[in-house]
Amino acid sequence: MAASISFKRSDSIADGMPEALRQSRYQMKRCFARYISKGKRLMKNQQLMEELEKSMDDKVEKDKLMEGFLGYIICSTQEAVVLPPFVAFAVRPNPGIWEHVKVHADDLSVEGITPSEYLKFKETLYDQKWAKDDNALEVDFGALDLSTPRLTLPSSIGNGLQFVSRFMSSKLAKGPDSMKPLLDYLLALNYRGEKLMINDTLDTVNKLQTALLLAEVFVSGLPRNTPFQKFEQRFQEWGLEKGWGDTAEHVKETVNSLSEVLQAPDPANLDKFFSRVPTIFNIVIFSPHGYFGQENVLGLPDTGGQVVYILDQVRAFEEEILQRIKFMGLSIKPQILVVTRLIPDAKGTKCNQELEPIFSTSHSHILRVPFRTETGVLRQWVSRFDLYPYLERYAQDAAATIVDHMEGKPDLIIGNYSDGNLVASLVSTKLGITQGTIAHALEKTKYEDSDVTWKELDQKYHFSCQFTADMIAMNTSDFIITSSYQEIAGSKDKPGQYESHYAFTMPGLCRYATGINVFDPKFNIAAPGADQTVYFPYTQKQKRFTNFHPEIEELLYSKVENEEHIGYLADRKKPIIFSMARLDTVKNITGLVEWYGKNKRLRDLVNLVVVAGLLDPSKSKDREEIKEINKMKFLIEKYQLTGQIRWIRAQTDRNRNSELYRIIADTKGAFVQPALYEAFGLTVIEAMNCGLPTFATNQGGPAEIIVDGVSGFHINPLNGDESSNKIADFFEKCRDDPSYWNKVSTDGLKRIMECYTWKIYATRVLNMGSIYGFWRLLNKEEKLAKQRYLQLFYNLQFRRLAKAVPMPIDPAQQAAAGT
Ligand code: UDP
Repeated sequence: MAASISFKRSDSIADGMPEALRQSRYQMKRCFARYISKGKRLMKNQQLMEELEKSMDDKVEKDKLMEGFLGYIICSTQEAVVLPPFVAFAVRPNPGIWEHVKVHADDLSVEGITPSEYLKFKETLYDQKWAKDDNALEVDFGALDLSTPRLTLPSSIGNGLQFVSRFMSSKLAKGPDSMKPLLDYLLALNYRGEKLMINDTLDTVNKLQTALLLAEVFVSGLPRNTPFQKFEQRFQEWGLEKGWGDTAEHVKETVNSLSEVLQAPDPANLDKFFSRVPTIFNIVIFSPHGYFGQENVLGLPDTGGQVVYILDQVRAFEEEILQRIKFMGLSIKPQILVVTRLIPDAKGTKCNQELEPIFSTSHSHILRVPFRTETGVLRQWVSRFDLYPYLERYAQDAAATIVDHMEGKPDLIIGNYSDGNLVASLVSTKLGITQGTIAHALEKTKYEDSDVTWKELDQKYHFSCQFTADMIAMNTSDFIITSSYQEIAGSKDKPGQYESHYAFTMPGLCRYATGINVFDPKFNIAAPGADQTVYFPYTQKQKRFTNFHPEIEELLYSKVENEEHIGYLADRKKPIIFSMARLDTVKNITGLVEWYGKNKRLRDLVNLVVVAGLLDPSKSKDREEIKEINKMKFLIEKYQLTGQIRWIRAQTDRNRNSELYRIIADTKGAFVQPALYEAFGLTVIEAMNCGLPTFATNQGGPAEIIVDGVSGFHINPLNGDESSNKIADFFEKCRDDPSYWNKVSTDGLKRIMECYTWKIYATRVLNMGSIYGFWRLLNKEEKLAKQRYLQLFYNLQFRRLAKAVPMPIDPAQQAAAGT
């Protein structure tokens, strides 16, 4: 029994482990003997568990051990380095929390070690000389965050904004002079040289407070809707400029929130005030790689989700900024620029056009700046892995073009992916602007052990450059935007993608004693939404895209099999369970087909429709897809699914797809997302927006989107029977009580409206821009010190690595040179 073990789970591992080892000394000596028996190596959690199992014969003893402190340590160990006679463990008892210990396999003595010591241990497996070199390059970005406050609770990770405003409130409340930075910040507010909110006459906090008092009493006496212009002059006499609000009511609210902050700062008023400060009108979003355009680009190399995300994001930003400008009573034209690469060989896209207005916006553009070298403009597309040598020059050119185009500096710069984030860091440092970064897919986590084995992969992927760029960007950035908690800190068992950059090493290149700490309050979750002009509820009959109905009818119900679809639905009265995803292993569409095939109860209740991949293996170039296509065919045959399944090839028209979700909702069906692991799960958001009850994987982002049993359901992709029964139970319940379907559909929509819309996203990110902008000023000295360190690292390390990446030979230049 666990209770017989006298350790608390809160004990540090180094403290508790010796006693735990002593209590099971005999078994543990056998276990450690197994660990070291194969000589030096890196062992992952699963291997550690297997070896532990094998070293024990007695089941009762084994169970007892697994329930105790040792079982807990080994279950929480992500990996261990075996260097006989030592085994060093990297233990992760909780998201974001790591402890490193070294155990002597013979005498079972335990020693707590630092992350850096652990990494040196690990390096010995790959590069002995480097590991032994006392002067090998070790970087510790954490060492410079001396006074930066840290979150402490794993459950608070990703709530940086909330934490910062609490911390700022207490900092501003410290003493008579503590409000001075806020006053200076307000005095500096302007748009193109025109003062906003206050002018230079209010040069002390006392004067400001008095002016606010007068203003509040005055506006309280006015009818609520009185326009600001009516009392603008009066305000100016008190030293107050425009920007407080468009009407007496709004002005009063803003004045009041600042008065409250000045009297006794509290996070609620601070947040309210900063959401109204007129600071962000011009935004730059960097996304250099790929073909960034609005038509005919999706699916081209390195061009996919990021483009869709950014275009939706821009529309949401513009709407929110316009609303804020109106609320502030200003008449400023905002500007949003998506800055990407200009590709002269545009392959029929508009990627060779310098400026392109963004659809459905009035003030947003795509601005394209080419990659230049000493020999001129690079004409062709370059892989995202190979573009590092161009980025420094690109950042310089882009900065100049942006300032030119905007007729001034932007107020906020946001980067995307490694290349965009590095460029954003260079430009924001140069121009002194608040920076946010986004990286929904960091390569280091995609390729297992790509840090320690970087040398093997470098020729192909240039990870030496990319991971260095990532480290520079994450540490330069004022805030980091993520879509979900798990993107930052993973789950109980699996580290998050940012978390895996906490302490890591690239032997022969650089050891990161602290890369980035997920308890840093710069981390924030702002989940994207789905475009609600496209993905809207099936109940909004007047908006429905009925023109697609005949095509969708054919797609779902015609009896023919062709290049578009295979199988048919014999009984069209049944509801449909629907899934749509790329046909690769991790999306687990074949898993869903198998669960369905095996579950007679489910088959009797519903039909299955999947939109995924190609249908003909000879047409696919992707090895994984070919395997999955063949597996689909095999399963349809094995479970005799014809008549109950419709398999439709990948679909690209998102308007039609949205109507497809809604037609599935008309059948009182459901959406199923069965992925083995899902980073975020856009289809889940889309389906829920359309009012479709949704079952989604409990592995990754969807587990955060859906509250199980309320706004949809979690399913375990590793337990097909349990999952298919859960779906069948739902449909049985709906058969007996049709209102249940409506309830889940409505509660799903409610969840979306409360947490997952682009409007919520834009509000949150603009608030980040504003609050972290002020936070930068409050921490100016420390920020500057860190910037120096980062510049040094950029100059001495990144530049050298980027130079070593071969630049593709431009065919045009080659022809011109006559080679
Ligand atoms: N999608 C599509 N056609 C398909 C499969 C997917 O248009 O055949 C769209 C889907 O509507 C969603 C996106 O591609 O907008 C997939 O996003 P998700 O987050 O589910 O998966 P990802 O492919 O980004 O891992």
